[in-house]
Amino acid sequence: MHPITIIGTGLAGYTVARELRKLDKNCPLRIITADDGHFYSKPMLSNAFAQNKTPESLVITPVEQMAKQLNAEILTQSNITQISPQQHTFHINEKSLEYSQLVLASGADPIRLPLSGTAVDKVLSVNNLIDYTHFRVALWDAKRVVIMGAGLIGCEFANDLQPAGFTVTLIDLAPQALGRLVPDAVGLALQQALQNLGVTLHFGKAVNSIDSTDTGYRLTLTDNSVLEADVILSAIGLRPRTELAAAAGLSVERGIVVDRYLKTSAEDIYALGDCVQVEGLILPFVMPLMSAARAVAKTLAGQSTPVTYPAMPVVVKTPACPIVVSPPATTLEGKWQVEGEGQDIRALFYTPTRQLGGFVLTGTKVAEKNALTKELPPVLA
Ligand code: FAD
Repeated sequence: MHPITIIGTGLAGYTVARELRKLDKNCPLRIITADDGHFYSKPMLSNAFAQNKTPESLVITPVEQMAKQLNAEILTQSNITQISPQQHTFHINEKSLEYSQLVLASGADPIRLPLSGTAVDKVLSVNNLIDYTHFRVALWDAKRVVIMGAGLIGCEFANDLQPAGFTVTLIDLAPQALGRLVPDAVGLALQQALQNLGVTLHFGKAVNSIDSTDTGYRLTLTDNSVLEADVILSAIGLRPRTELAAAAGLSVERGIVVDRYLKTSAEDIYALGDCVQVEGLILPFVMPLMSAARAVAKTLAGQSTPVTYPAMPVVVKTPACPIVVSPPATTLEGKWQVEGEGQDIRALFYTPTRQLGGFVLTGTKVAEKNALTKELPPVLA
């Protein structure tokens, strides 16, 4: 029998493998990754620097041990170049391998802005352990760090790096931090907390060009202001990796399209994690991929199981202003009701029939997370 094959050793790929092994200890299992396959927790990357975490110390389980624990063959540094759904095969360059069932857990790529200038290719992003290694090397003799993007990850990096001794500037085209994810009062509370740390904010502007100078880089913004930097980090968002699936003829929109069973448009091919779109939803966070992994594993083991998503609040790792956010569905009608002041805000999103549709809590109010989560409707029932 050909092995069940998982593409990707991120949280999605490895969680499917773990869940599958709880149900079937012995079915042939092969996991393939373009990287080194060590198991690590990606969310740690945006608050690792201040804790002086090296890439090595972020590895939770080395790949050899993962292979043993999972009773799986793990092929590392192996970039899958083609999938042939009809033949149930895939290619790693010239090599062709067969699968019984295939799981795509191939993640997402950082979005690159189309900027001009001589140093555009020097912009860094941190989306895996290798990126983090490069980032740490770049920070070695740096002082001035410019972060593009004041979403969750950009704000987390700003909160991590400024107290570690860097001079951080945060730039975003939006007028406030965390964009449309939170009501204004929350964005302002976070901005105030970051400014109190010493972070400089440039909001309502974008970067036009990045050029090399004798001492580092020069960024020119859309209002013609100029900033100098030693390191430039882009945190403007991720785009699901869909190329392989699209080339194989699978249905792809913003992400790889899957149904409630995480099944793609091709027979015996499933997908989950940052690469997918489930019922139109792209949710690049840990909790959704955990639910998806449990469902896929059951389906692979022969018990066809749809995914359900409970309410899944996200903790923003900004200790200067602790935040937990459970954003309302974009299609949901309603209004924010904001209470509290300073750093301690409770923002509740109510529908016209007074149903709680989402919430954001900051400061001391984050203690209300569990109680409010129970009141929320599931994301996918
Ligand atoms: P990835 O971890 O990207 O794994 C993709 C895998 O696919 C890799 O092993 C890659 O090598 C492999 N691959 C891709 N293409 C190929 C190919 N062609 N051939 C072979 N292998 C291939 N979420 C939260 O819920 N809370 C947080 O606090 C949080 N913080 C975050 C902080 C940062 C800095 C980042 C970047 C993300 C954060 N997230 C957070 C999001 C969360 O980490 C991701 O949703 C999750 O890790 C995605 O896992 P994944 O397995 O889908 O993708």
